[in-house]
Amino acid sequence: MTPRTAYLNGQFLPLDEAKISPLDRGFLFGDGVYEVIPVYNNCLFHCEAHITRLNSSLAGIRMIPPLSYPEWETILETVVEKNGKEDQWLYIQVTRGIDSIRDHQFPKHVVPTIFVVSYPKTRLTKEEQSQGICVTAITDIRWKYCHIKTTARLAYVLMYQEAKDAGFDEGIIINNGYAQEGTTSNFFMIRHGVIMTPPKTPLLLSGITRDCILSLAEKNKIPYRETKISERDLQKADELWITSSTRGVYPVINLNGHAVGNGKAGPLWERMWTLYDAEVTHFSLSVSH
Ligand code: PMP
Repeated sequence: MTPRTAYLNGQFLPLDEAKISPLDRGFLFGDGVYEVIPVYNNCLFHCEAHITRLNSSLAGIRMIPPLSYPEWETILETVVEKNGKEDQWLYIQVTRGIDSIRDHQFPKHVVPTIFVVSYPKTRLTKEEQSQGICVTAITDIRWKYCHIKTTARLAYVLMYQEAKDAGFDEGIIINNGYAQEGTTSNFFMIRHGVIMTPPKTPLLLSGITRDCILSLAEKNKIPYRETKISERDLQKADELWITSSTRGVYPVINLNGHAVGNGKAGPLWERMWTLYDAEVTHFSLSVSH
């Protein structure tokens, strides 16, 4: 199998030839940020929103954006093109760069490390996705800057693994009695026809898919609210969904071993899946190559 093409610090090269120094601060400290962008029909879905979020994550760790938007576009489109025609997801990572010695303090003169790769992505059908997932509540063990999409993912890795080890597909993070987001996703709760999701605070990542779902609700006059949701509220949900760039909008059919609603993907999820799917299709047809 031909290796995938990656981009590393100015060069396009086979992924297995991409090498970084053990003194890279991303490796030593998790001192970096990342993005994941879905690619449908060769089009980068909401690319500008992802690069805007990358730049705010960089600002959050006191780094200057290393590339302009057109420079990012050229690199990302080249990686996608070199990796074939199928749907993909792009992974972007920017770290503070290589240090001369392991020191917590930012080095004075340092060049950021920029890495991009893409992987094939399967677009599930509505029937496949309607099978839904099972989630469990997980106690928050994260730091206080969860709005920054940092590569320091250990807390998320541990919480996700905790959910997996208990036989669930995803964990919903509970902080002081309130549900914040999934370990790899945002979440939505539906009750009496109203879509609800927690407001943006530093306790959750401002998901690009979350924003897309809210704007679809707005455009289609579906009632929605950004509001705090307690762990107890979750148990009264008619429907629960999780959202992310790689999974779109996914129904949750079971919470902590109990059926959500009637234990099947709900009617509002079906409506939102169709709207989101139409948005993806419309987007990929409207962007010129
Ligand atoms: N929250 C967390 C913790 C995540 O890891 C993700 C996925 N990266 C999201 C939310 C969803 O963000 P997006 O819709 O931009 O993929």
